[in-house]
Amino acid sequence: RVRSGSSGKGHPPSSPDFSNRGVSAKGTPLKGEPVQIVVATDNHQFELDEEALEQILLRSDVKDKNVAIVSVAGSFRKGKSFLLDFFLRYLSAGGAPDWLGDENAPLEGFSWRGGSERDTTGILMWSEPFIVKTRDGEEIVLLLMDTQGAFDSESTVKDCATIFALSTMISSVQVFNLTQNIQEDDLQHLQLFTEYGRLALEANDNISKPFQALQFLVRDWSFPYEAPYGAAGGRQILEKRLLVSDKQHPELQQIRRHISSCFDKISCYLLPHPGLRVATNPYFDGRLKEIEHDFLEQLQILTPMLLAKENVVLKEMNGQKVQCKEMLEYFKAYIKIYQGEELPEPKSMLQATAEANNLAAVANSKTLYTKLMEEICGGEKPYLNPEALHVEHTRCVERCIDLFHNTRKMGGPEFSQSFEDKLKEDITEAFENFSKHNESKNIFSAARTPAVLFTVVVA
Ligand code: GDP
Ligand code: MG
Repeated sequence: RVRSGSSGKGHPPSSPDFSNRGVSAKGTPLKGEPVQIVVATDNHQFELDEEALEQILLRSDVKDKNVAIVSVAGSFRKGKSFLLDFFLRYLSAGGAPDWLGDENAPLEGFSWRGGSERDTTGILMWSEPFIVKTRDGEEIVLLLMDTQGAFDSESTVKDCATIFALSTMISSVQVFNLTQNIQEDDLQHLQLFTEYGRLALEANDNISKPFQALQFLVRDWSFPYEAPYGAAGGRQILEKRLLVSDKQHPELQQIRRHISSCFDKISCYLLPHPGLRVATNPYFDGRLKEIEHDFLEQLQILTPMLLAKENVVLKEMNGQKVQCKEMLEYFKAYIKIYQGEELPEPKSMLQATAEANNLAAVANSKTLYTKLMEEICGGEKPYLNPEALHVEHTRCVERCIDLFHNTRKMGGPEFSQSFEDKLKEDITEAFENFSKHNESKNIFSAARTPAVLFTVVVA
């Protein structure tokens, strides 16, 4: 279960020593390793490794302390783990000014760059909690979480939504890692995932915000002349992207309102490109020497912004601070919700849209069938002999199926087939009703059943 960290094997679990804060980060050994605490299995179930989680959260020196949890989520291979490894460096060095350390030291921690092979979907936690003293002297625990999900394949929409929702529910700060810009589909994903989280929390009252801080992190920002790198530029972009205006399509307005209503605080940070060696050299091992200066400069602002003792956001549930040991219970409760059957299946935009327009096509075609048949054998129309009615029915069905075929639908012919089958079933049922109605107009046939007539009269 334990993913191989690149260091720290064999170290006994103990908290990092923060007493010598002035000491250089050079040579500070990185303790701990990434531990997979939530895993999505092949049949799309979710499992919590309670034992692994207990080892982290119930350690005697952390279990009774208030906790802050920073999570990084977003698409696969966009530098999440790479970033987290810098966070680890910062925390290991106790936030010392030269925490970035030796320019030739390889970057270690959460495994990154794992080739094109994908890691299993799930949530990883760093095995070593960091104990940080806040300004008012309180010792708090800081935990780092890494998430893995594909975000791009149809079959894993549910997996990704669950991982994203779970990590958002658990963390006090969710870093939403994006590349190049905040795009409309990023917002759509975010809406789907947060809605999935909100459903689980049943926080539908619209008053309390279900989640804490959301930090958009745009990687490879390449328009510094439009909006500068950093938090100020991020604010500019965020305001532009999350602005709700009357000119927008109602759907776009709704996405924006939804996202704003979910989080206590939303911010954005623009990071520059780290340089071609980071992005393309397969032998790059993370050493500072080969990373663009601009990137490192911004990293030195971003990291303390999220993790310094004066900035760290404590986890709260319903306005109450949460202790490490309580988080264990939250983990267990939340995973149960996603293991159960009561939540609706999240669907991709394409799936949902395709379903909606196929349903609309079915409805239109059915309406056409009913209209045509009403003209032939509706209320005021005289009785028709059953063979003639059947001929008319066949003709109407043909027109109605033609209409279904000619209506533009998404999802492809295979997807539409099940809707067509349903349409045919519905038409058959409607035809049976038309036939019965037609038969009731046949006075001869009614006369042939005197028993029925008799009963009616007596009644
Ligand atoms: P993850 O799947 O999101 O955790 O991505 P990784 O951290 O494993 O990084 C994937 C690849 O992206 C590695 O080859 C990194 O060297 C590279 N990388 C890391 N940060 C950045 C970045 O800010 N921009 C670009 N273009 N590549 C990056
Ligand atoms: Mg990763």
